Amino acid sequence: MDELTPWADHWCKWCGDQLPIDRDPRRLFCDNDRACHTAYYNDLRAERLKRARAGKTCKQCGATFTRQKAHAIYCSRDCAVKAGHRAVSERRRRARADSCYIGQSV
Ligand SMILES: [Zn+2]
Ligand SMILES: [Zn+2]
Repeated sequence: MDELTPWADHWCKWCGDQLPIDRDPRRLFCDNDRACHTAYYNDLRAERLKRARAGKTCKQCGATFTRQKAHAIYCSRDCAVKAGHRAVSERRRRARADSCYIGQSV
């Protein structure tokens, strides 16, 4: 990005109209603000939904799956349990190590 020309390419993110030069620098949309803003974010959301439906890769086994919930990161309950179990036992192990250490130092 060219720091010398911060105003050079400020176009409405949705319709491509040039923005007024004296606008709020954070402004991303033209005078048609509300409509362009809404349309842009509707489109973003639709795009995101489409990608979510296209599938994700399971963090545990690497399989591709279709997300049932927005935050799902595992293909199945099995994988979630496996991953969760590992995380819990890791935490427990660390907690136990901590308490041992404290026990010895007091
Ligand atoms: Zn616009
Ligand atoms: Zn999996």
